[in-house]
Amino acid sequence: MRGMILPGSLVNGQPATLGVMGGGQLGRMFVHAAQAMGYYTAVLDPDPASPAGRVSHHHIQTDYLDEQGLAQLMQRCAAITTEFENVPAPALFTLGAHRFVAPASDAVAIAQDRAAEKAHFVKCGVPVAPHAVIETPAQLAAVADDLLPGILKTARLGYDGKGQVRVKTRAELAAAWAELQQVPCVLEKMLPLQHECSVIVARSGNGEMVNFPVQRNLHRDGILAVTEVHPGVIDAALAAQAVEATRAIAEGLQYVGVLCVEFFVLEGGTLVVNEIAPRPHNSGHYTLDACDQSQFDLQVRTLAGLPLTPPRQHSPAIMLNLLGDLWQKSGSEESGSEPNLLRKSGSDPNSSKSRSDPNSSNSCPPWDQVLALPGTHLHLYGKLSARAGRKMGHLNITGATPEAVRATALQACALLGLPAF
Ligand code: ADP
Ligand code: MG
Repeated sequence: MRGMILPGSLVNGQPATLGVMGGGQLGRMFVHAAQAMGYYTAVLDPDPASPAGRVSHHHIQTDYLDEQGLAQLMQRCAAITTEFENVPAPALFTLGAHRFVAPASDAVAIAQDRAAEKAHFVKCGVPVAPHAVIETPAQLAAVADDLLPGILKTARLGYDGKGQVRVKTRAELAAAWAELQQVPCVLEKMLPLQHECSVIVARSGNGEMVNFPVQRNLHRDGILAVTEVHPGVIDAALAAQAVEATRAIAEGLQYVGVLCVEFFVLEGGTLVVNEIAPRPHNSGHYTLDACDQSQFDLQVRTLAGLPLTPPRQHSPAIMLNLLGDLWQKSGSEESGSEPNLLRKSGSDPNSSKSRSDPNSSNSCPPWDQVLALPGTHLHLYGKLSARAGRKMGHLNITGATPEAVRATALQACALLGLPAF
């Protein structure tokens, strides 16, 4: 068993440094949590403007498989994690030979492949949607009729509803597979969803595991829009089942780090597992403001080998995702033109005027009004251009009661032009 990496200590003469593969918003929030605890941080991401790279002590700007980049990351860091599941598993494998890496490359490899992921769920005895793996024309022809209507999903590299086609007939299925370039896919039966939920656990190298409460999630256009968390938001028996299933899935992977498992609750109340994310998750962002430890704090602890204590939610919470659409006048986006946030925000003394100008194509959301509501916590990721569907930030709302939180969230939605829920 490896030793702990104590915050603020020296490791081989260098300040204890934690590394992360990927510089997106999840990496940024990991960096914030690690730095708050006294660690130095290093981010590997080729993008010079990556949200995490901009706030990290070190930013290595190379490709994820670049040998020199990986060598630099190892030289800097005592331990390394990842913030997106599509980081090449071979890169994690290389790092893992020389440094403590969590989660391990084999767990990440399973999460990267919907077919392997579903096989793991079945092995753990957790119910999954009826599905078929399609890698060959023969497998396509052999698909059972009762999987239609269904959703054809690429086995790899899908996220936020991308790489998915909804199909009703065999002809549509064949056309969809052709459209997806006949890459390996999973066809899932379309299920009647009552709602969706997720569970986040953190598991340490010695097998200790803690979990956050079950989160209720609302998706729009395949992207998470709202997460709601308070006692009673999910039926207690279902919630217990979801936590137990998540723990079984993490245990089965001998997982180390923070893991999120997404579930469907079907009409009639059956729980079905959807997919896993080998990292903190968008549905856990409420933990930053509503819990005594956030999912990123637990990611730091599992990576550094520190003790885990069960996180406690102290306030009911709602999280609203803030997508790039909020910065744009709907319908005004032209291909190739992204609103540049540097150009319009801050320096413009008439910004509040321009924001209410219906002809402005990239108006700043009315944060002054939103932040005047009680218990609102704004998190923006520092991205410089807002595209439709791009995750720019989130708004957490906490309060004394679920009713108060919901009332405030609906007011925030009205101010931001988001649909009520
Ligand atoms: P992603 O990796 O893009 O998050 P998911 O498999 O989670 O892909 O699908 C995105 C969303 O599409 C889900 O959150 C759910 O709302 C819907 N969806 C996915 N699979 C099914 C299904 N089998 N039946 C009904 N809805 C589904
Ligand atoms: Mg999903």
